[in-house]
Amino acid sequence: MMRIGQGYDVHRLVPGRKLILCGVEIPHSTGLLGHSDADVATHALMDAIVGALALGDIGGFFPDTDPAYAGADSLKLLAALLDDPRIRPWTIVNCDLTIIAQKPKLLPFREEMRANLARVLNVAVDAVSVKATTTERLGFEGREEGIAASCAVLLEKHLANPAGT
Ligand code: MG
Repeated sequence: MMRIGQGYDVHRLVPGRKLILCGVEIPHSTGLLGHSDADVATHALMDAIVGALALGDIGGFFPDTDPAYAGADSLKLLAALLDDPRIRPWTIVNCDLTIIAQKPKLLPFREEMRANLARVLNVAVDAVSVKATTTERLGFEGREEGIAASCAVLLEKHLANPAGT
């Protein structure tokens, strides 16, 4: 059995915050604002996984009003999500993540981002695609007001008794 999901997230860029994408702290003049570490890329991946199984959205799993998640490491939230009994039976076939940011250049950090996600997802690095694009200075990303991320994921579950007999 296979399920496909897609996720999208946006966080605002502000001074005085760290910029963390796929668990990598990236040196930059601004960082993402949010209740957790605001790792917009990991959030889009999490929403894709939740979406693939039609389990609502990650806000339902990790409410941004819950003080337990203040400043939370989103890779740890991803690990906790994968441990949910509804999600645990599934394996990740692959994911394809696009980060939409005018700045900074993300290519130097791509392999570390892929490795972080692959480790938490328990898949090979070649199952994890991390891409980055600008918007040619158009829109909120282009004005460097925020960063968006979009992710597609494919999940697979092997049925013990596929014939159902
Ligand atoms: Mg978010």
